[in-house]
Amino acid sequence: MILPENLPPVIRHWIGGELTDAADGRTFDVTDPVSNAPYAQAARGAAADVDRAVAAARVAFPEWSRLSNRARATTLYRIADAVEARHDRLAAFESFDSGLSITQARGQARRAAENFRYFADVIVALGEEAYRQGEAQFSYVVRQPVGVAGLITPWNTPFMLESWKLAPALAAGCTLVLKPAEWTPLSASLWQEIFDEAGVPAGVVNIVHGIGEEAGQALVDHPDVPLISFTGSTDTGRHIIRSSAQHLKTTSMELGGKSPVVVFADADLEAALDSVVFGVFSLNGERCTAGSRVLVERPLYEEFTRRLAERAANVRVGLPSDPATEVGALVHPEHYARVLDYVEIGKKEARLVAGGTRPAHLAEGNYLQPTVFADVERDARIFQEEIFGPVVVLAPFDDEDEAIELANATQYGLAAYIWTGDLKRGHRLAHAVESGMVWLNSHNIRDLRTPFGGVKASGVGREGGARSIDFYTESKIVHVALGDVHTPRFGAAR
Ligand code: NAD
Repeated sequence: MILPENLPPVIRHWIGGELTDAADGRTFDVTDPVSNAPYAQAARGAAADVDRAVAAARVAFPEWSRLSNRARATTLYRIADAVEARHDRLAAFESFDSGLSITQARGQARRAAENFRYFADVIVALGEEAYRQGEAQFSYVVRQPVGVAGLITPWNTPFMLESWKLAPALAAGCTLVLKPAEWTPLSASLWQEIFDEAGVPAGVVNIVHGIGEEAGQALVDHPDVPLISFTGSTDTGRHIIRSSAQHLKTTSMELGGKSPVVVFADADLEAALDSVVFGVFSLNGERCTAGSRVLVERPLYEEFTRRLAERAANVRVGLPSDPATEVGALVHPEHYARVLDYVEIGKKEARLVAGGTRPAHLAEGNYLQPTVFADVERDARIFQEEIFGPVVVLAPFDDEDEAIELANATQYGLAAYIWTGDLKRGHRLAHAVESGMVWLNSHNIRDLRTPFGGVKASGVGREGGARSIDFYTESKIVHVALGDVHTPRFGAAR
């Protein structure tokens, strides 16, 4: 195992500008997915730590929220610079802790910096809403940050997903408490020096590490946190919505997926194949928008299956730190065991055409050869359930109606990918599939201005662009008289 340089032996909370241990002194082991041995301890947060963090964020709120949008944007640009200045260390930490290939971790680090620049631009460009009712009255909308935002994030691409919430929350004028995922707290340990270097005042950002049911739950239950932005599994999302109801919190839910890729026989086969292979195996398949259910029109089905199996067998599985690696190690032994269980279930439910085992050259670590199952029935568990690893299922369809029916046959609705040479049909499909996002003859590239989110069990709400700022702010309307406003004279002397 190659340890990155400057690994912290202890990963502490960051509260009110201070690195601190848990109030009760407890810690938990942090492991890497190659050795699965503890390399650090992290503070194990509980209600007392969340209380302190929320109190610090409340103290910092008035000053931060009153800054002009331009002033906050300037700080966000500095944060982006500070992220970029640590690009190598950040990517090395992320790859080591989460098992992501170093090459893809570098891409995610660049994207994190981009998120801060982008939301700085958004907040500067944001116009105000105003309405005039003839000569009588003028109304304008004041956008006010909600207060202390609670941000809860998952272990896949942790730093980038944290930035996806931190940047708009800060741009909007919120102060916040972040609870990073317990399996991957390492890259979050860099936020303190990034925010300090960028000149973010103490208490604006607070980080409490810990277990979901303890630190995360305490944040959800805290009466002074009016908003929870959550990315994670559907079951946890449901639970958080139920808990948030107690205080009627605003919530945003970015949840799981089992996204279909629909490939028609007239599609550009090479482009579709590239997209399928990259879409489900990049980021180790631990990607919420992974195209993990591939539906292929029958005349192309056998050829597509064979070609996909060949490509899967050629994917380079290896050490996360090796720049040539395409698929690294799955994040944690518990998750690895879960993915392997699905592979065993799949072997009973369908035809295994690639992978299904640990690669022969990797004796230790959470590795799985990219796995392809063909002839998967719609009620099979591997068709219905999110596996969140390098595993893809294939099924044939005979016509457009059946393609739509199969695409919509799960509880999820995050992304969908459509490949066809017939653009009219492509648009029909794009409108008919039940998902928050559709890529037509394209793979998972995003324009940051566009809405991001899912339907059905994949989420509630949309973030992205000005929608993210809407989420972190409350709109207040101010009505003001322009001329004489005649109020009906109730109770006047007759
Ligand atoms: P998870 O739900 O287990 O955990 C996510 C976060 O929630 C962690 O920080 C965890 O500590 C916390 N948590 C757990 N229980 C909690 C509770 N009771 N109260 C408050 N917080 C709690 O999810 P995960 O396994 O870390 O992440 C993988 C899942 O995330 C997959 O389902 C994936 O599809 C989804 N995901 C969705 C998107 C999206 O944008 N839709 C993006 C990335 C990941």
